[in-house]
Amino acid sequence: MRVSLAFPASAAVDRPVSAAICGGRVKRPSPSGRRAARAAALGTLLLVTGFGAWPASTPLRVAATIFPIYDVVRHVAGSAAEVVLVLPPGASPHTFEPTPAAVRALAGAEVVFVVGHGFDDWAARAALGAGVSRLVPVDSAIALRHVDGRIDPHYWLSALNGKAIAKTAAAELERLLPNARGEIEHSLEAYLARLDEVDAEVRRILVDLPTRRIATVHDAFGYFADAYGLEVVATFEPYPGSEPSVRFLVDFQKTIRACDVRVVFTEPQLATGALRPIAEDLGVKLAVLDPLGGLPGREGYAELLLFDARAVARASRGETQ
Ligand SMILES: [Zn+2]
Repeated sequence: MRVSLAFPASAAVDRPVSAAICGGRVKRPSPSGRRAARAAALGTLLLVTGFGAWPASTPLRVAATIFPIYDVVRHVAGSAAEVVLVLPPGASPHTFEPTPAAVRALAGAEVVFVVGHGFDDWAARAALGAGVSRLVPVDSAIALRHVDGRIDPHYWLSALNGKAIAKTAAAELERLLPNARGEIEHSLEAYLARLDEVDAEVRRILVDLPTRRIATVHDAFGYFADAYGLEVVATFEPYPGSEPSVRFLVDFQKTIRACDVRVVFTEPQLATGALRPIAEDLGVKLAVLDPLGGLPGREGYAELLLFDARAVARASRGETQ
């Protein structure tokens, strides 16, 4: 199976500041018009479906916007399809802008698997430019979280939701490749069993922690927390792209102190420059939680979930990474 990357890496940028109160989350600012416009554009594109002619001798080419979805799709596809990853590992989906070369790299894909809900609307623009008209959100059969009236799009961050994503991807691949149905079903069953193991392992890693409260740099771990009995008491940047606010920063600091949080989790895709001096003032350590993976130590979706579980367990016990 060939694997290719559609888009080059983009630099992480400094992120704004916001917070939640221990035991009661701070209401977020309302979404920007730009984000709402992008969501509308994606919705429009999703109404358009179609399949271009593709020679039978050419392997089916499909794409996925982010690494976790890409890894799930490639496990399910096996050798039946070539899978293209759109967002380079290490880049942030919240700031990503596809380049013309990246759009060209997407050409020939029959479908782009997307997160949706405004998370990866850049995929719609790239797909449009590449002549790819079918985008498939992978959230079927997933109970979506709502935060302050908006859907939390980070739904891949639990192994059971990963199983739902795998089933959605398999159904689409089988539709595109009816002759490979047996192979895809076989791959799906094996991967679902693997994700059951991962789910059990994550629960084992997170059993009997001194504290189950965590603070994160952005609000990506709600599904992970819900699935595994953790509580996200504060986020430094709950709304990517929003301006830092002094009020939010004050609330963040109050929450960290009130909840006796000792570690704030940063993310490899986001800059930590704004957080570091605040963490120093608060006397808290910084550790890494990764919502996306594709980097050393989490080269697969399963490994990503295990990496994050171990990071939470270590932080809870006061161990350094
Ligand atoms: Zn995010």
